[in-house]
Amino acid sequence: MSAGPILQLTSVGRRYNEIDRELVILDDANFSLGRGEMVALVAPSGAGKSTLLHTAGLLERPDSGDVILDGRACGSLSDEERTAIRRNDIGFVYQFHHLLPEFSALENVMMPQMIRGMKPRVASERAQQLLDYMKVGARASHRPSELSGGEQQRVAIARAVANAPLVLLADEPTGNLDPVTSSYVFEALEALVRQSGLSAMIATHNHELARRMDRRVTLKDGKITTVS
Ligand code: ADP
Repeated sequence: MSAGPILQLTSVGRRYNEIDRELVILDDANFSLGRGEMVALVAPSGAGKSTLLHTAGLLERPDSGDVILDGRACGSLSDEERTAIRRNDIGFVYQFHHLLPEFSALENVMMPQMIRGMKPRVASERAQQLLDYMKVGARASHRPSELSGGEQQRVAIARAVANAPLVLLADEPTGNLDPVTSSYVFEALEALVRQSGLSAMIATHNHELARRMDRRVTLKDGKITTVS
């Protein structure tokens, strides 16, 4: 473990080639996420928030520059090495829960741990603890279709942190929820991040939620800039 930022983007470029034009999303962009820091990513639809999160989370490779996680430059790593880092060190939450429909909430939270090689009993205990912490412990045996939208997202958050990642990346995690449920789910997410000392970058359109984070950044002209 290095003492610097937990996540850095250095001179990152990312562009999409369309038939008649080139779409520049990131252009020599720099960003640092401090240890234990919670940053809101606030930008209009189409600005490139998902692209930034996917690049930071090693789901996409940048065209130039690098992503440095806990002091480790990830650009030159193989796909297998990047997959291992994603599995162990990065947690993702999406706008839609993406839980596996044929498995219970508990099994969904056990899954990443089992893939990592944890024993079922240990994985099950941790999954139940996380579900309890997210206040959905009583729904552990239910399948996703039997849960409310807010409950599904709380299970998805528990799953994202099941392997105790270094960084949590969330793409509009409460974007599908009504304002009251959204606030409730966000509170649980915030408590979990703070309590576990996680570092998080969370894209949101909700300015009230964004204000509760340590810092707000936006995407403009291919750069990532702090707005407050
Ligand atoms: P946001 O999350 O802020 O809505 P995105 O990162 O999803 O923004 O998209 C930014 C822009 O890049 C959009 O104009 C989108 O259409 C375009 N885009 C995203 N992914 C691709 C892709 N794989 N190929 C081409 N264009 C893409």
